[in-house]
Amino acid sequence: MAIDKKIIMGLGSFFKRNKDKEEETVESHIEIITDDCKGSDCEKCVIACPNNVLIKEGDDTVVRNPLTCKHCKVCEAICPNDCITVN
Ligand code: SF4
Ligand code: SF4
Repeated sequence: MAIDKKIIMGLGSFFKRNKDKEEETVESHIEIITDDCKGSDCEKCVIACPNNVLIKEGDDTVVRNPLTCKHCKVCEAICPNDCITVN
């Protein structure tokens, strides 16, 4: 069985601080399939996101803060490669 080499970013653990200054894990609901993403050659979703959820990180596009996402799905609509999904 072939191994799916697609790397899905955005599903990693994110951290935010609560009022007691302890870290808690927040799971991202935004997936970027990096095999298909053009990253810094595209950045359409980074520019289009009204809530600054997505950022350029080197040559890649990554999820910065899923907590600020409003589920508008503008990023999905604008992506020319169908490689970003908001669940
Ligand atoms: S769904 Fe909307 S707010 Fe969330 S990452 Fe996409 S464009 Fe940004
Ligand atoms: S719009 Fe799509 S291809 Fe372009 S940077 Fe965003 S996820 Fe990658």
